[in-house]
Amino acid sequence: MKVGVLALQGDVPEHLRALGRVVPGTIARPVRRPADLEGLDAILLPGGESTTIARLLKDAGLWTPVAERIRAGLPVLATCAGFILLSARLESVPGGRDPPTWRFLDVTIRRNDYGSQRESFEDAVRVEGVPGRPFPGVFIRAPRILAVGPGTQPFAWRGDEVVGVRTGSIWGLTFHPELSDDPRIHRLFLERASRAP
Ligand code: GLN
Repeated sequence: MKVGVLALQGDVPEHLRALGRVVPGTIARPVRRPADLEGLDAILLPGGESTTIARLLKDAGLWTPVAERIRAGLPVLATCAGFILLSARLESVPGGRDPPTWRFLDVTIRRNDYGSQRESFEDAVRVEGVPGRPFPGVFIRAPRILAVGPGTQPFAWRGDEVVGVRTGSIWGLTFHPELSDDPRIHRLFLERASRAP
């Protein structure tokens, strides 16, 4: 499979490394311009700063082409800032500056809702389709999912709280599987993506 990693800002090398460990034969390619989207079987949207990534997507002429490919069925795994860009509704923080979003996931979220960088944490996450020990979820200035609409299904939880959702092969996580030394979520995503119509 050829898997693109949006490589404008954020934790791109970590995703590329995680993909390298997942399934032998996976080709991971950074995406910086529209031509890089050609021939991809899936795309990863990394964490970082969603307002910056949105601006760089527009500057690179990628905002509309990426949305069109996703709409046409390209499987997506989006983490943290990447997830924010897919969300339907952002509940604004007073004085905050929110990015535009593509609205593929029927969720309401609030950015930075667990606190600042210093309040980052790791906690056990239960992921549907990932049996065995809990997944070590790394949360860094993560958004909080406030509500999930009928078009989108939860598939990852921290206690009772939803921390991962999907609509078909469009997946969004508030935490960072690429920062845990655990390839199970990337592997599950690629397995499902390889079977996507
Ligand atoms: N707080 C960032 C934002 O709002 C996301 C942080 C992250 O991706 N780790 O875009």
